[in-house]
Amino acid sequence: MVCCHFELVEKHGEETFVQRTQYKWIKIVSNSFVNSFPFVIRNQMISKITHKGKSYNVDLAKPIDISIPLRAGEQNVNAWYSPPVKIEPVRMGDWIGDVKQGGSVNFRNVFFNPHGNGTHTECVGHISKEDYSINQCLKTFFFVAELITILPDETANGDKIITKQHIENCLGDKRPEAIVIRTLDNSLSKMNKHYSNTNPPYLIYEAAEYIDAMGIDHVLIDLPSVDKEVDGGKLAAHHAFWQYPHNTKLNRTITEMIYVPNNVFDGTYLLNLQIASFENDASPSKPVLYQMNTAL
Ligand SMILES: [Zn+2]
Repeated sequence: MVCCHFELVEKHGEETFVQRTQYKWIKIVSNSFVNSFPFVIRNQMISKITHKGKSYNVDLAKPIDISIPLRAGEQNVNAWYSPPVKIEPVRMGDWIGDVKQGGSVNFRNVFFNPHGNGTHTECVGHISKEDYSINQCLKTFFFVAELITILPDETANGDKIITKQHIENCLGDKRPEAIVIRTLDNSLSKMNKHYSNTNPPYLIYEAAEYIDAMGIDHVLIDLPSVDKEVDGGKLAAHHAFWQYPHNTKLNRTITEMIYVPNNVFDGTYLLNLQIASFENDASPSKPVLYQMNTAL
């Protein structure tokens, strides 16, 4: 009887090799046998990484994508009164960049605002007089990240706030390079929520100051901003985190409007934070988490 610990790792012609999680190799003669398995078979790509003196195994074939797709139309997530994303074929005379309409290729213009239309990563250039681009500021793309889940406190005026105490309690003695903040409630509606004029939860100044003091360089959050929606232009948490303008931390980033599914547990992950190479304060981004298992 085959047990459900097997995972397909390679196929060579009619032969298939499978592997136990304990790394014992098993060979199966016929692929038709594999196809009859009553469970999901998937590839593995185990990478061993060493970080701050500790070794971990990471399966690069099991990404946890925490970005929200950038889709055209009103169903996409939206904030800051941004127009919806438009993706439309180029037209030149009789020619149209749409195969369905007779064009030779699909060739579309995309109109969007990185801050208002989906998952994006920004650098200090978002709040600075000087021009800093995310492409210049984000120079490495893998970080050890701590995923935490926070139920914001409700204040007398109805604001929902994330405090220093929340962050402190969740982190304990951990000092990750990145912090991924999932707020409650965490329904799928975050994938297409329209945030404008809803006063979403936010980090108070002391929480951002604490993240700075902990030496955390990358903040990821499932809200449109780390600051209050209407704050008179102060952006206190942005300023505290980037220490702008007195001690500006150019390498630091904030990623907003992520979505972390409920079946992903809090804990330590390898984060791959990728952007498009925009010379702009922000870019659409694709943060991806990988489980890290302590290696022997
Ligand atoms: Zn933003």
